[in-house]
Amino acid sequence: MDVFDSLWPPDLAEDWDTVGLAVGDPDAEVRSILLALDPTDAVIAEAVVLGADLLFTHHPLLLRGVTSVSAGSLKGGAVHTLITNGIAQFNAHTNADSALGGVSDVLIALTGITESQPLVPHPDGSGRGIGRVGDLGDVSTVRDIARTLAERLPPTTTGVRIGGDPAAEVTRVAVCGGAGDSLFDAVRASGADVYITADLRHHPATEALDTANRGQARPQLIDVSHWASESVWLAAARDALDTAFADRGLSVALQSSAVNTDPWVERY
Ligand SMILES: [Zn+2]
Repeated sequence: MDVFDSLWPPDLAEDWDTVGLAVGDPDAEVRSILLALDPTDAVIAEAVVLGADLLFTHHPLLLRGVTSVSAGSLKGGAVHTLITNGIAQFNAHTNADSALGGVSDVLIALTGITESQPLVPHPDGSGRGIGRVGDLGDVSTVRDIARTLAERLPPTTTGVRIGGDPAAEVTRVAVCGGAGDSLFDAVRASGADVYITADLRHHPATEALDTANRGQARPQLIDVSHWASESVWLAAARDALDTAFADRGLSVALQSSAVNTDPWVERY
């Protein structure tokens, strides 16, 4: 837990969020960790089969309060399976979004941008915060960026979608891994030409495009799979954990989940 907290400090998490140890004994021995985006039933079953001692996820198992962990309930069933099989469960969510090298850092790097600032800086002035905005080395177009993302993100049923003008020129790029339609004010203030995020809903998206069309014709929108936008971070998290455990002389086996938790499986 010290290693996790050093990479993704829990005080960076948003007030509404739940991060850290949800299930498990802090004194239990951990020899193997399974990394996944979501603690779904299929992922927990995978952890059981692999004999993992700890399941590390991005999304929380218990975000909202529960009044029972009865094995017959959705969350209680998961808690029972984990405890019965001696598996702890830990997550780093908005603290991993905000941290340096976090979810949005990895996402914006897919566009070739290596230097960026937070869209919503953390009040501590450390350069951490939610989302990222940065400039491309050369002018590009919304369409070319979308095609690049389609190549570099894992393939998904919903793919990469453009809202607005696909031919619009882009130098300044804003991103937010995961659901980002609450950040439009920050995106407009950043002067970004395009906003890359996931789970954009109809009304926020159409209103953002109308606002863009009445003003400086930006930002255009690129909507990607929530799962894809964050799963690229998991690989980076695994590398960071490998290094951090080795630095402390700890021998912990890390495995990446083979379960795709993107809920969408076909399109017509
Ligand atoms: Zn997410």
